[in-house]
Amino acid sequence: MTSVLKSRYLFNVELSKISDKIKFFIENFMKDKEDKLRQQIKFKLDFQKKEMILDIIFKVGYPHSILFNLRNEIIKNFGREYKLSVEKIDIDYYEIEFELEKEPLKEISIPFVDDIAISGKQCKIKFNKIMDQNFVKKGFINRIIKRIKEKIEQQYYAGKGEYSEILWKSEKKDMVWDLDPSKEMLKKSWIRQAKTKGKWFFGPQLAKIIRGLKNIVFDEILIPMGFKEVIEPHHESFSTLLKTGHLEGVPMEVYYVSEPKTRNPEEWELFIDKLKISKEVPYDELLKMISPPNAINCYVQCPNIYEFFSGRTIADAEFPILVFESSAVSNRYESGGRHGIERMDEFHRIEIVYIGTKEQLLDVKEELIKRYSHIFNDILDLEWRMAWVTPFYMQQSGFLGLDDETQRIKGTIDFESYLPYRGSREESEWLEFQNLSIVGDKYVKAFNIKAQKLDLWSGCSGVGLERWAVSFLAQKGLDPENWPEKFRKIVGELPKPYTFY
Ligand code: ATP
Ligand code: ZN
Ligand code: MG
Repeated sequence: MTSVLKSRYLFNVELSKISDKIKFFIENFMKDKEDKLRQQIKFKLDFQKKEMILDIIFKVGYPHSILFNLRNEIIKNFGREYKLSVEKIDIDYYEIEFELEKEPLKEISIPFVDDIAISGKQCKIKFNKIMDQNFVKKGFINRIIKRIKEKIEQQYYAGKGEYSEILWKSEKKDMVWDLDPSKEMLKKSWIRQAKTKGKWFFGPQLAKIIRGLKNIVFDEILIPMGFKEVIEPHHESFSTLLKTGHLEGVPMEVYYVSEPKTRNPEEWELFIDKLKISKEVPYDELLKMISPPNAINCYVQCPNIYEFFSGRTIADAEFPILVFESSAVSNRYESGGRHGIERMDEFHRIEIVYIGTKEQLLDVKEELIKRYSHIFNDILDLEWRMAWVTPFYMQQSGFLGLDDETQRIKGTIDFESYLPYRGSREESEWLEFQNLSIVGDKYVKAFNIKAQKLDLWSGCSGVGLERWAVSFLAQKGLDPENWPEKFRKIVGELPKPYTFY
């Protein structure tokens, strides 16, 4: 395996007078590198006016890794004496050969490279000209190689779906009916499709049921465990999503937010004129008047909560920090997957977040599971189960598989319910109605959240209110007569539907 790099350093002065000195210096520099990198480095050096032309050949690794180091060393040694500086470094040609862990199953495409050739586990990429110094400096080349390996890895996972292993299962329960609650609620005018895609308007009956479910979460979990309420902004900035990885993991699933280019009414005049005359939205004008998106509508609530604590050092005595958020509404572009109120483009969730030591979080997790179980078993009387799955923070940044495979401490537990309208227990897909995760230090690191001395971890649990409602209604029906006594009392009497003619 060899990698060949042809570069040109452009200096501010003619080099003829000092070229011998530089040559001697570079020979030593390369010898030193040979020792450090434990390989023979071949190189060819030439000088033309202000330019130094350097070809480097490596057997292992990437020759571009020494380009800037060499520049700095030359400047350090000759800069002052000869008033020397390097104006730019161009790469005329770069060919990198490296070993893959696995053979690709099908062709790979990758941007920025001029050619990619794979034979077995050998990969060769070529760049014909790299004019932008930042390309190398900012680490593009290393990330191109990483991305190629990642794309091959993903080919092996494709179609496998997320990992799932059942941890616990409730006993079988008698089902009141086997109809789809969303369809039945629609027939009874309890809900109505909203004008925007995948969104629903909840009439007073479902609103009251969801209020009841929220009250349960407050009374059985948030208040007794001492969670404090926070209210976060509804938009998540691209800068936040770059930290969590959501923008690379689920760019196809988010609702983008654009700002108007200007607040000045005069500049909007043409848009308004066309709208008033045609009575249709003049999209051509609109697109001229809005900026490219720089944020999304809330996809998950926890990133903004981490932003609140980001860059801070928090007193050790504060931990575990226990907070919840139930103001931001989640938006997801579910496209073909939409179904009733269980898979909507806009839904409501109570997001529970905990930050503390590993031991503290394990206690929180245990306590949460105990309390959730009480709710599902003793108040809602559900048939449900818990499964160990691909963690959301891996899934939502584009990965499958498990975190922490051996210890099973970090990771996500999905809570799933049986929906009789979907078919038999064995063959139908159960509904994930909430989850619970221990994220490890991934987010506290990404957001630079520190304690005085303690090592911090974090985690979260997302209570999907519509999914709770569907789980309950699919098993117990819409008639409160058939509901467990405790829940009927919590909800109270359902308002009578409006009479529509
Ligand atoms: P799914 O696999 O069903 O798409 P998800 O893995 O995308 O779910 P998470 O990102 O883990 O879900 O979100 C946490 C919770 O939010 C889920 O457990 C669920 O209760 C709720 N949720 C997610 N997507 C939707 C949706 N489209 N409509 C209603 N609730 C949702
Ligand atoms: Zn979360
Ligand atoms: Mg989803």
